[in-house]
Amino acid sequence: MLAYIGLGSNLQNPRLQIENALRSLRDSDGIELLMVSSLYESKPLLDMPGPNYVNAVCKINTNLNAIDLLEICQFIENNQKRVRKVKWGSRTIDLDILLYEQQIISSDRLSIPHPEMIDRAFVMVPLHEIDKEINVPLLGPVKKLIDRINKLDVKKI
Ligand code: ADP
Ligand code: MG
Repeated sequence: MLAYIGLGSNLQNPRLQIENALRSLRDSDGIELLMVSSLYESKPLLDMPGPNYVNAVCKINTNLNAIDLLEICQFIENNQKRVRKVKWGSRTIDLDILLYEQQIISSDRLSIPHPEMIDRAFVMVPLHEIDKEINVPLLGPVKKLIDRINKLDVKKI
C-alpha cells in the first residue's frame, strides 16, 4: 500500500527530530521509505506562540493496515518524547497520515485523508514536490489543490 506521512517539529532541534523520525520509519518492519521531500519552515498555525516549525512529507510503501501504521507513528512520537498538551501546541514531533492508498477512513482514531491537509501549505507544498500526480480522495488532484495554497506560508530550507 502506498501512503504519505506529514512530519512536523518545532522543539529540541527540529531538523534532527525529523531525521530521527524518518530513520525510525525506515527501520520499521513493514515500511519501505520511498521518497522524502525537502525540509520546509513554517510559522505556528493561528499565530500560536512558539518557534517556527520544520516540516516534510514522505511517501512509503507498507503492508501495514492504516491503524497499525498509526500505531507505529504514535510509537515514534512517544519515543521522541512528545508530550501531548494543547491541540496545535508546540511539539518535538508530529506524524500525521495524510493519505493511505485512495482509502477514505473516518473513525475515532483515524481520519484519512487528513482533514486539514488541503489548507496547509506545509503539507501541500512538500506533497506536491514529491508527487504531482497523486489524487486526494473526495477533494481532487494535488496538481489542482496546490493552486489554492499560499506558497509564501512555507520556505524551503
Ligand atoms: P494534531 O496532529 O492535530 O496536532 P495529534 O497529533 O495530537 O493532533 O493527534 C491527535 C489524534 O489525532 C491522535 O490521537 C490520532 O488518533 C488522531 N488522528 C486522526 N486522524 C489521524 C491521521 N490521519 N494521522 C494521525 N493521527 C490522526
Ligand atoms: Mg498529529
